[in-house]
Amino acid sequence: STHQTSTTVLIVGCGTWGSSTALHLARRGYKNVTVLDPYEVPSAISAGNDVNKIVEQGTWRLIMSGCILEANAGRHTIVGHRGEDASVSNRVVLEATAAWQTDPVFKQYYHATGVVIAATQPENVEELYESERATPDNGYKRLESAEDFRKTMPEGVLTGDFPGWKGWAKKDGCGWVHARKALMSAALEAQRLGVKLITGSPHGQVTTLIFEENDVKGAVTADGKEHRAEHTILCAGANAPQLLDMKNQLRPTAWTLAHIKMTDEEVELYKNLPVLFNVERGFFMEPDEDNHELKICDEHPGYCNALPHVDDKSTYVSTPFAKHQIPLTSEQGVREFLRETMPHLAERPFSFARICWCADTPDRGYLITSHPDYPSLTLGVGGSGHGFKVIPTVGGYIADCMEGKLDERMKRTWRWRPETALGRDWTAVQGRMGGSYKVLDFTDVKADGWTAIVSKL
Ligand code: FAD
Repeated sequence: STHQTSTTVLIVGCGTWGSSTALHLARRGYKNVTVLDPYEVPSAISAGNDVNKIVEQGTWRLIMSGCILEANAGRHTIVGHRGEDASVSNRVVLEATAAWQTDPVFKQYYHATGVVIAATQPENVEELYESERATPDNGYKRLESAEDFRKTMPEGVLTGDFPGWKGWAKKDGCGWVHARKALMSAALEAQRLGVKLITGSPHGQVTTLIFEENDVKGAVTADGKEHRAEHTILCAGANAPQLLDMKNQLRPTAWTLAHIKMTDEEVELYKNLPVLFNVERGFFMEPDEDNHELKICDEHPGYCNALPHVDDKSTYVSTPFAKHQIPLTSEQGVREFLRETMPHLAERPFSFARICWCADTPDRGYLITSHPDYPSLTLGVGGSGHGFKVIPTVGGYIADCMEGKLDERMKRTWRWRPETALGRDWTAVQGRMGGSYKVLDFTDVKADGWTAIVSKL
C-alpha cells in the first residue's frame, strides 16, 4: 500500500505503545495523526504509568513459560519456541537497547544499573541458569550465599537471610527505566511534532471502531463524535478486546504493585541499585526520586477478572478495571519478599498500591499486524508483560506494519494467529511463577480481602 505523510491516521490509546507509535509516525513526517485516550497522559490505567520498569537483555522474564521467547542480544545460540523467531527477539532487544542509550526522548530515563536475578527452588535455579546461560562469559557472577546477595548492594540495603536463594549478578547492558517519564516524554514529543492528542473522557474514550465496507474507518468516542481516518491503529492495551473481537488471542491479566515511603537517608543509600528479581518472589528497583517511594512487585501468575460476556452470558471474559488497592494475598507476597531481602522494611505501611493490567497472548509474543479482514486496521497489542522496554522502538515496527513494510520475520512472528488460541485455557500460568502458582480471579477476592486505600499517585 502507498502511504503519504498526508494520510490521516487515528491511534486508539495513548499508553506505552500508542505514544511510541505517535512519535514514530510524527518523526516520519506524518501530518495528520490523532491519538484518542479516555485519560490524560499518563493514563491512570496504562500499564506504563509506573515509576519504573525493568529493561533486561536476556530471557529471564519469560524463561519460565516453557516457551523461551527472547534471546540474548549478541548471543549466538538462539532459543525460540512456539513459533517465535529468535532472530526477531534478538533484533528487538538490540534496537531497544540502542535507542535507550541514544534517543534524546528516552535516554535520560534509562538507568543501566545492572541486575541481580535469582530463584529459590532448585529446578527453577537450574532453568534460570540454562535459559539465561548465566556464565561468566556472558557477564554473570554466581551468587551462592546470603552474603553474596547482600554484597551486590551497599551495606544496609539488603539485610535479609535470602533463604534458599541462588542467583547471578550482571552489571552491563541492563537495568531499569523511569516508565512514566519515558511515556510522557514520547507523547509530548509526538505532540510537539504535530500529533493531535484528544485525551480525557468522554471525548477521548472510544466506544466503538467504525466498521464499514469490510473495513475500519476510524472510531467513535463517548461524546458521540466520529473520528474518521484512512488508517486506524489499535493500541488500547488490555482494553483492546472490548473494541475488537480478538479471537481469544488476548487475555487481560493484572499484576500487583505496592509502594512504601523511604526516608531521605534511605533514598540516598538506595541510589543506583541494580534491579533485584527473584522469579518466584518478586522484584524491586531503587526508590522513585520524586516521591521517595520504593516500588515492590510480588511475583505470581496474575489475576483475571472473569465477567460474563455481554453477548454470550455462558462465556466469561477477563475485563479490566482500575483499583488503587491490591488483594491482601499480594500484600503478604510483598511482605514475604521484603522479609527475605530487606526485613527492616517488611512491616512498613504501603503509601500506594494498584493493580496493573497487561494483555497476554498464548505464546506471550507481541501481536503487531494488519487485521486480516479490515485492511485499514493495524494492531499494536499483546505486550504480554514485557512491552515496556520497547517503548523507544515498538512504534517504528507498528508504523512499518501500517506502511506494509514490516520485516518478514517480524511479520510472521507477530502475525494474527487465532489458531494458537483455539480452546485456550484461560487459567494457564504460561510459565509464570510465584504466589499460589495459579492464575487467580478478582471476582474471588472478598470485599474485605483488599489492602486499605492509601493514596492515588
Ligand atoms: P497500555 O500502556 O496499558 O496502554 C493502553 C492505553 O489504552 C491506555 O493509555 C488506556 O488509557 C487506553 N485505552 C483504554 N481503553 C481505551 C478506549 N476505550 N479508548 C481509547 N483508549 C483507551 N514490561 C517491561 O518491559 N518491563 C517490566 O519490568 C514490566 N513490568 C511490568 C509490571 C507490571 C505490574 C505490569 C502490569 C506490566 C509490566 N510490564 C513490563 C509490561 C508493560 O507495562 C506492558 O506490556 C506495556 O506497558 C503495554 O503497553 P500498551 O500500550 O499495550 O498498553
